[in-house]
Amino acid sequence: MPERIEWLDDGTAGGSPYSPRFGDRYRSELGGLDQAREVFLKGCGLPAAWARQPQWCILETGFGLGLNFLVTWQAWKADPLRPRLLHFVSTEAFPASAEDVLRSAQTHPELLALAQELQRQLWGLLPGFHRLAFEGGQVLLTLCIGDAKAILREQSFEADSVYLDGFSPQRNPDIWDLHTFKAVARCCRRGTRVATWTVARSVRDALAQCGFVMKKVPGTPPKRDNLQGIFHPAWEPKKKRASPLRRPAARCVVIGAGLAGTAVAASLARRGWQVVVLDAAAAPATGASGLPAGMLAPHVSPDDSLLSRLSRSGIRATLQQADALLQSGSDWCPTGVLEHCVEHARMLPAAWQQNLAEAAGDWTRPATAEQLAQGGLPPETPALWHVQAGWIKPAALVQAWLATPGVEWRGHATVSQLVRQGDSWQVLDAAGQELASAELVVLAAGYASRALSKIEASAELQTSPMLDLQALRGQASWALQEPGIASALPPFPVNGHGSLIPALPLADGLAWITGSSFERDNASTETRPEDEQHNFSKLQTLLPAVARQLAAQFKGGTVKAWAGVRCATPSRLPALGPLEQPDLWVCSGMGSRGLTLAALCAELLAARLHAEPLPLEQRLADALLPQYAALTQALVA
Ligand SMILES: Cc1cc2nc3c(=O)[nH]c(=O)nc-3n(C[C@H](O)[C@H](O)[C@H](O)COP(=O)(O)OP(=O)(O)OC[C@H]3O[C@@H](n4cnc5c(N)ncnc54)[C@H](O)[C@@H]3O)c2cc1C
Repeated sequence: MPERIEWLDDGTAGGSPYSPRFGDRYRSELGGLDQAREVFLKGCGLPAAWARQPQWCILETGFGLGLNFLVTWQAWKADPLRPRLLHFVSTEAFPASAEDVLRSAQTHPELLALAQELQRQLWGLLPGFHRLAFEGGQVLLTLCIGDAKAILREQSFEADSVYLDGFSPQRNPDIWDLHTFKAVARCCRRGTRVATWTVARSVRDALAQCGFVMKKVPGTPPKRDNLQGIFHPAWEPKKKRASPLRRPAARCVVIGAGLAGTAVAASLARRGWQVVVLDAAAAPATGASGLPAGMLAPHVSPDDSLLSRLSRSGIRATLQQADALLQSGSDWCPTGVLEHCVEHARMLPAAWQQNLAEAAGDWTRPATAEQLAQGGLPPETPALWHVQAGWIKPAALVQAWLATPGVEWRGHATVSQLVRQGDSWQVLDAAGQELASAELVVLAAGYASRALSKIEASAELQTSPMLDLQALRGQASWALQEPGIASALPPFPVNGHGSLIPALPLADGLAWITGSSFERDNASTETRPEDEQHNFSKLQTLLPAVARQLAAQFKGGTVKAWAGVRCATPSRLPALGPLEQPDLWVCSGMGSRGLTLAALCAELLAARLHAEPLPLEQRLADALLPQYAALTQALVA
C-alpha cells in the first residue's frame, strides 16, 4: 500500500498533506516551497555552487512528496550555468502514491508540469533502488525505498550537497539519529554542504559527532532558525569502500554497434564524451541485435533473486529510453506480456501478495481469465501478466542511441588488436592499421569480446586473461500474418517456453515472430530447417491454439528464419566493468536479455567511471563485475 496521507483543508488548491503514521504535516503551515528554496537550495549555496560543474550530486533524507526534488529540478532548468548532469538521490521508507505527489504540487502551479513528469514515472516502487530519468537523462533521480541507514551504508558516491529532511525529530527520531548521520557522513566529501530546517539540540549534537560543522542561520517563517553547515571532520574519515575518483569526459572507442555498445556510447556522450563506435559489419545492429524484434519482460522468482531485481531495474531503464527515443506502435509497443508458466506455476515473492501488493502489481500480477482466453488458453492455466513489458525492434534502439550528439559510428572496422600507447589505446585492424585511438576502450563486441579481452604482455602491459564468455546460437521463425489470422492471435506477446510476438509492423505488413532455439557453444549464424521445426513444437506447448492456426504457414514454407549468437557469462549475468588493463572496460554477456539489460548496464558503466551514484543497489552492481573464470587457464597456456 502506498503511504496513507490525509489532506487537511488549509485554503490551498490541494490542501495540506498530513501523515497519520507520524502525526505530523509533510510541510510547514506556510507552504513547502519557501522551505525548499530557502532552507535547502540556498542553505547549500545552490545554484551558485554547481555553476559550470560537469555534474552535481544531492543527497536527501526523506523524499516525502518530492517537493525538494521538484524545486531543485526547476532551479537546474532555469540556470544557464547548470551542471551537465544533476543527480538527486533520495531515501524514503514509506513512499507516497503518484497521485498524492501530484496533488501536493497543485498548490504550486509553477511546479505542476514537472510534477506531472515525475508522477508518470512513480510506479512500482518496491523496496530497493529506482532510477528515474528526466531532461533526456540529464536529471537523474535515484529513489531508494527502504530504511535510510541501511541504504546509505551501501553507497560509495560522494554527495556535493545534503538536504536533511523528514518529519520532526520528535515524531520520527530515527531519521535524525546518530546512526543515520553516520551513514550520511559516509556519502560526504570534505566540504559537502548540509542544510536542514530543524535546530533541535539532539540533531546538532549528533551532526557534530559525525564531523559536520553546523551553524544556526535566520530561519524561514514560521521557523526562527535553520541549520547550515559543511562536512569537515577533525579526523580523516575512514571509508569501508575507497571512493572512486570523478574522471573528466574524454575520448572513448566502443567496439561493437549492437545494443550493448551503442547504449554505452549514448550514456557516455550524454556526459560529454566523444565516442567512436567501431563495428566489423557494414551497418549497425547486424549481430544478435539484428533480431527483427525482441521481448521486454521482467524475470520473477519466489525469492526475488538478483536476476529478478536486475531485470526490473533494466526494464525501467529501457522503458525510459524507448519512450523518449522510439516511435510507439512501429519501433516498439508497451503492450504488456503474458507469461505462460509451462513447467509449473511460478510463485511470486510472498510479500508481493501482502504489504507490497500494490507496488508489485504495477510490475507483475496473476493473469486474468480474459487474458488467458485471448491467448486461447484455458482459465486454469498457470500464468502471469507482466504490466511493464512489450516488444521492441533492437535496431531502432541502436539507431537512436547512435544518433546521440557526440557519437560517431564507423562500419567495416574489424578490430583485431589493442595496443597501449602512453595514456591511450590504439585500436588496430588485422593489418596493424590504426582504426581509432582513445583514452578509454569499451569492449561490446558480443562473443568476440572474449578474444579481444586477451591482451598480450608488452613493455607497458602484463598479459591479461580472456573473459569467460559463451556463445549461444539462436534461431527465430517469422512470417507475415496471413489474411484473417489476426483475430486468432493474442493481442500481446506471450513468453514462457520460447515466445510469440503476434503483430510486428514491418514494411510489407504485420508479421508474427516466434522462437527461439538455444544452442550452447555454437557461434554460427547459418539458419537450419530443424530449428524451425523446434520453434514450432515449442509454440505448440506455449500456445496450442495459436500453433494450430500457424501450422499451415510452417508446412507451406512461407516461414522465414533469422539466426544470431547471444553471448553469456558463467553467472548468466552481464559482464560490466573494468578489465585488468588500464582504461579497458567491458559491457557484454547480455544473454537472452539485451533489451532488458543494455540501457541499465550502460548507465552503470558511466556511473562507475564518473563516481556517480549507481542506478541500482551496490550489491547488484557488484555482481556484474567481470568474472575471470579463465584466469588460471589463460596464465598456464
Ligand atoms: C534468436 C534470438 C532471440 C533473442 N530474443 C531476445 C528477446 O526477445 N529479448 C531480449 O532482450 N534479447 C533477445 N535476444 C538477445 C539479444 O539479441 C542480445 O542480448 C543483444 O542483442 C546483445 O547485444 P550486444 O550488443 O551485446 O551484441 P551484438 O548485437 O551481437 O553486437 C556485437 C557487435 O560487435 C561487432 N563485432 C564483433 N567482433 C568485432 C570486431 N572484432 N571488431 C568490430 N566489431 C565487432 C558485431 O559485428 C556486432 O555488431 C535474442 C537473441 C537471439 C539470438
